[in-house]
Amino acid sequence: MQSVSILITNDDGYGAEGLKALEESLAEIGTVWVIAPDREQSGQGHALTLNDPLRFHKRGPRHFVVQGTPTDCVYLGIHAILKAEGRPRLVVSGINRGYNLGDDITYSGTVSAAFEATLMSLPAFAISQEIRADSPVDFGAAGRFARVLAREILERGMPADTLFNVNVPRRPPRGVRVTHQGRRIYPGGVIERIDPKGRTYYWIGAQSADWEDDPKSDFAALGDGFVSVTPLHLDLTNYKVMDQLRRWNLEL
Ligand code: MN
Repeated sequence: MQSVSILITNDDGYGAEGLKALEESLAEIGTVWVIAPDREQSGQGHALTLNDPLRFHKRGPRHFVVQGTPTDCVYLGIHAILKAEGRPRLVVSGINRGYNLGDDITYSGTVSAAFEATLMSLPAFAISQEIRADSPVDFGAAGRFARVLAREILERGMPADTLFNVNVPRRPPRGVRVTHQGRRIYPGGVIERIDPKGRTYYWIGAQSADWEDDPKSDFAALGDGFVSVTPLHLDLTNYKVMDQLRRWNLEL
């Protein structure tokens, strides 16, 4: 039997430890192609490079770096790097250093890479690891869970127009929960400072945020020490408000 081919990428960059852990874990079930950004691209969301030439460089057998975003990696991976090879059976993005929960997923390069693969009708998931600044990161459990989920997807197939967003707690997981996307409560504002030349500058994202208390959310699962698996849909339409919107006075 031919080995299944799996494309992996991330937004922490080619040299990231989480990518290596993911590669090692998935190598047990398939032929892994590593196609990752040449530098960190966290927080780039679903950005696609449209106004600059895109280049990739081979770093070893089945290892490539792309001078672009995580979405570029998937796009170029499928349409150029793996063109002769054929489409992979699965695309996995991660293991991200730091979780991607709730509303944050729209900023996430990790989740967006999986989103891009789903747009191309390829089964995909994103996987992220909870971290703490004061302790080393152990990607062991996340790597093992990536393999478990990959096996299931390869065996069962993926529900249409769906990707999975997986988050793994820092402590040894107590189990796995299927969750919905939670809601962050941002303290708001930015941190304002003065640089040595007297000019004002700002930092976004440096404040800690809380989240809405909802026992079925991704946040709650992590808080309780469980791996969280959130199925995400490609269609962002809010169907519930369509009728309401039709009653607005929107005549031209
Ligand atoms: Mn990242």
